[in-house]
Amino acid sequence: MLSLDIVHTSLESELTPKNRILLVEDEELIREMVTIALEEEGYEVKTTSNGRTALNLLQNSNSEFNPDLIVLDLMLPEVNGLDICRLLRYQGNIIPILVISAKTSETDRVLGLEVGADDYLTKPFSMRELVARCRALLRRQRYSEQSLESQTPVQKYRDINLFTQECRVVVRGNEVNLSPKEFRLLELFMSYPRRVWSREKLIDQVWGSDFLGDNKTVDVHIRWLREKLEVDPSNPEYIITVRGFGYRFG
Ligand code: CA
Repeated sequence: MLSLDIVHTSLESELTPKNRILLVEDEELIREMVTIALEEEGYEVKTTSNGRTALNLLQNSNSEFNPDLIVLDLMLPEVNGLDICRLLRYQGNIIPILVISAKTSETDRVLGLEVGADDYLTKPFSMRELVARCRALLRRQRYSEQSLESQTPVQKYRDINLFTQECRVVVRGNEVNLSPKEFRLLELFMSYPRRVWSREKLIDQVWGSDFLGDNKTVDVHIRWLREKLEVDPSNPEYIITVRGFGYRFG
């Protein structure tokens, strides 16, 4: 009986598809440590030390390895991590990206998030921390895929149309490019017009409760979103500041 149970369990784990992670890191020691830590956690890991190779792999639709998450160093040979991020988002690729970098200044962190990274980990970091961040990003991705499926395909407010399943936004007849975070923020706003959101609540909903950044991140994203949506961003008509409380849409 016991041996049958064991057979059953191992068969089941073999049948569950493993999450795949692409690790782009040119420092050999870090690459090896991260690979071991992620593989121990049950993830399938592919590594490359070169930015161009990473990009080729991600843009090749016939590629055998379609990752569910990218762990991305910033300083890389040939194509740097920020450019990889920027290009993938520009092309509409919404795969979760965790940036790992030795750059520690706030500007670098904000820049990483601005070009579309989902999370940012400063070197040196513990392998436990890295694994926890990867797990959180993959879990969040799964939730947002589920909630997307249950939503209506188009949300409309005045002259803004948001196409939920196509991750597309059209403002006054023009397609606008939103980062994944800006898109999620707008989607949330449009789902609850006139509801007032505190910055903490927005972080919870859009970044996840395990996000370690501060409320300034919300303000920065609101500013970018206004620049893309409003006729006059300094005199907003869509995303309204509710003094002392936060923001509301419409
Ligand atoms: Ca590097």
